[in-house]
Amino acid sequence: MNNNISPTAFTKAASEIESRRNKAFQTLELHKAEISQKAPEIDSLYNRILKTSIDLSRAIISHSGDIDKIIDELKNKNLQNQLKIKVMLREFGYPEDYLTAKFTCPICDDSGYVNGNRCNCFNELIKKYTVEELNESCKIELHDFEEFNMELYSNIPDSSGIIPRERMSDILAQCKNYVDTFSKNSCSLFFFGNTGLGKTFISSMIAKALIEKGFNVAFDSINNFLIRAENDHFRRSNGNTVEAIINADLVILDDLGSEFSTPFNNSTLYNIINTRINMEVPTIVSTNLSLSELNDKYDDRIISRFTGMYNTYRFFGTDIRQIKRRMKDR
Ligand SMILES: [Zn+2]
Repeated sequence: MNNNISPTAFTKAASEIESRRNKAFQTLELHKAEISQKAPEIDSLYNRILKTSIDLSRAIISHSGDIDKIIDELKNKNLQNQLKIKVMLREFGYPEDYLTAKFTCPICDDSGYVNGNRCNCFNELIKKYTVEELNESCKIELHDFEEFNMELYSNIPDSSGIIPRERMSDILAQCKNYVDTFSKNSCSLFFFGNTGLGKTFISSMIAKALIEKGFNVAFDSINNFLIRAENDHFRRSNGNTVEAIINADLVILDDLGSEFSTPFNNSTLYNIINTRINMEVPTIVSTNLSLSELNDKYDDRIISRFTGMYNTYRFFGTDIRQIKRRMKDR
């Protein structure tokens, strides 16, 4: 992670770490209070351990007498008492770690830092809040899988013999499975087909379901992402859109082809697509363009990524917006 971190994302991440730490200590305090009431024997042993620990630090600071021997004795005493506490807790029907603070991150004990560097848990939270900030400007509405209306797809074969409703229920089932089995190394998907066939709708369902499962999903139209990236690049804003997109668990680039063809846009798009392929992390791209229109607009090296490295899905049917309009007029 570079130093170009959004201050808002940093502050949110730091305060979440702090509240995790506070929560661990609050829970410990509650457990201590409960034990002192219900099992005074354990409580007095626990206090003896605390006293031995204080004696130990005093001995280390004072550095007098046979210091090594004293330290060894105190350490031994503490160890024995800790083992005794575990046994007693079990006897009283408590888990043996009931009087140990339980941190969300055992690596940094919810301090956020290890040897002066940000712990991975802290970086993960910064990533999460950076993507959330990015998604705040997304105008696309998110939907649930239950909202998908299969009736809007015809069950009459089209000129090529394909039944849109059958094809769409197949795509829907595969997308549900994608969500159910999603991992940070899932495959990438490429949705193409005419306007108004539900590509954005399905993408938004995947985004919503995975955000609810706790994944870090960046979702917006490619055009909006690139406008933000351009503003960052020319210092009209101080975000880090490209880095946030590259680091998200899943990136959904909606409506490829809606953006202007500029050298900046083309190289940024290639950078995002290619870096994520190299990192073996998933991206979902959707487009209304046909394969020949894509070939006209983009470099071979971009197209070959989609056709060679993504699972492609062609959407079939008649523009749903038109069908909905007709249904309303009836
Ligand atoms: Zn940590």
